[in-house]
Amino acid sequence: MAEPILSVRDLHTHFFADEGVVRAVDGTSFDLYQGRTLGIVGESGCGKSVTARSILRIVERPGRIVSGQILLRRDNGGSVDLVQLASDGAEMRAIRGGEIGLVFQEPMSSLSAFHTVGNQLIEAIRLHSSLSKRAARTRAIELLAMVGIPRPAQRVDAYSFELSGGLRQRVMIALALAAEPRILIADEPTTALDVTTQAQILDLLRRLQQERGLAVILITHDMGVIAEMTDDVVVMYLGHEVEKGPVDAIFHAPQHPYTRSLLRSIPSVLAEPRSRLATISGSIPHPYARPPGCPFHPRCAEYIAGVCEKSFPAEVSIADRHDVACHLYTTELATA
Ligand code: SF4
Repeated sequence: MAEPILSVRDLHTHFFADEGVVRAVDGTSFDLYQGRTLGIVGESGCGKSVTARSILRIVERPGRIVSGQILLRRDNGGSVDLVQLASDGAEMRAIRGGEIGLVFQEPMSSLSAFHTVGNQLIEAIRLHSSLSKRAARTRAIELLAMVGIPRPAQRVDAYSFELSGGLRQRVMIALALAAEPRILIADEPTTALDVTTQAQILDLLRRLQQERGLAVILITHDMGVIAEMTDDVVVMYLGHEVEKGPVDAIFHAPQHPYTRSLLRSIPSVLAEPRSRLATISGSIPHPYARPPGCPFHPRCAEYIAGVCEKSFPAEVSIADRHDVACHLYTTELATA
């Protein structure tokens, strides 16, 4: 496989509040490749959105990246560590929105209500290019057409509140692609949409990814979206990656008890009529009261007493590019 376009290495992003420290991301590592989609999945509070915000250097106080590397490969074969850049410096601002585009869950809070979608697109286009205002307006209309907005020449002068939720999300995608980024981060891009519109937006993302050879990070809590959209998967729980690998391995040979629980909780058309949908037992611990040892142990059906609550499991390789962090697979136990 080619060199990754983005490598996250042992990333730690913590939030320092009066009540204590929340280790929102606590040692995540993964690689993203050109033309592939990496899914980051887990329940809310698992650290997936903070991972995305860390990559873009938009973590808000009292949070900050404590350690780790975020290596963005450059065309000359070298790389830049985004952690070392000033979050509001010129280089990071050029990367954010320029080389890495972002689609948020709720376009209403990301789009300005006071400017037309066209003016927001023109601003984004001109920020990262030398196009004239007239040429940028033409490009804005092209972008609206590209993301499937009907009558783009008229809609360019619309305000976001005049558009449906699905059209607003298409505008967000057009904005994210305005500067022709190499990487697109989509954070729960369909969660706020109805099922039909969700499917349309996922189709659009897939088409754009294939046409433009984008590297995509797709953040979701929905294993169905992961199955449909991704090539590689990182499963996160309480700030830790617990399993990562190719999507086929995650779905057909899941190793971590948490991954298996997530998969059991997907509704299936093959299930017995009126059968209960499996849920993951217990609830996510309070962020200030992280369980010791394996953070999943209070909810784990395969918990090993005397081991799992005592030490944090190291990540081990199960197969090619398939890693898991669970005491069921650590060498010490396997050889005991
Ligand atoms: Fe379960 Fe132990 Fe594995 Fe954690 S380390 S997932 S508690 S078996």
